[in-house]
Amino acid sequence: MEVVRDRPYARPLPELDPTSEPFWRAAGRGELLVQRCPACGERQFYPRPVCTACGGTPEWEVASGLGVVHTFTIVRQYGAEPFRSELPYAVAIVELDEGVRMLGNLTDCAPDEVRIGLEVEAYAVAAEGGIGIPFWRPRRSGAK
Ligand SMILES: [Zn+2]
Repeated sequence: MEVVRDRPYARPLPELDPTSEPFWRAAGRGELLVQRCPACGERQFYPRPVCTACGGTPEWEVASGLGVVHTFTIVRQYGAEPFRSELPYAVAIVELDEGVRMLGNLTDCAPDEVRIGLEVEAYAVAAEGGIGIPFWRPRRSGAK
């Protein structure tokens, strides 16, 4: 996953806790992590301390960063900065090739061109403290 370092990240930062911190730190290095349970094989996102299928202890796995838009909305009104100056923007739930779904902003695509089923790839924007914030964009040539 590409890490964009020349785009200032002005939005509120995620609150790190022991369960989620590895996800944000890995995104800062260009790795999109999901959890996989070694006991039953289930994957899950968002990060949790236990497997929601069997109660086992999940491990981190680097995901492909590829997925498709499962559903989305276009945000056209927002009163507060910095979101206000980004209007209109797309927020999507992306189904990863690994089967889990992630919520994120979809960029590099006109709002009217966003579709369910659109093939997307993850990238990260470097933020304060060495973490990365994952975003989504339409796949570029070369990604399958
Ligand atoms: Zn499990």
